Amino acid sequence: MFVRFLRFLLLVALGFFLFKWLWKGVAGWPFASKKKQQDEATATPNAPPKIIAEMKKDPVCGTYIPENQAVICELHGATHYFCSEECKLKFQEPDAG
Ligand SMILES: [Zn+2]
Repeated sequence: MFVRFLRFLLLVALGFFLFKWLWKGVAGWPFASKKKQQDEATATPNAPPKIIAEMKKDPVCGTYIPENQAVICELHGATHYFCSEECKLKFQEPDAG
C-alpha cells in the first residue's frame, strides 16, 4: 500500500519535470531565434563595403582622399568630402578660422 503511494508520487514528479522541460523547450526556442535574427540585422552595416574606393577632392586644401576614409559633409543637397574634421569645419565656417 505504502510502496504503491511512493511509486505514484515518483510518477507525478517525473511527469512534472518532463512537462517543465518540454514547456521550456517549446517556449524558449522561438524567442531565442528571434533574438538571433535581430542581432544579425543590427550587425549588418548600412553601406555595402567598397573594395576600390573612389578618390574625392577636399575643396579646402585640395587633397585627394579615398571616399571611405573621407570626412563627409552634406550641405545644400551636395555631398562634400574632406581630409579631416578641420577642413570640414573650415568649409562650413570660412570666416571662423
Ligand atoms: Zn583638407
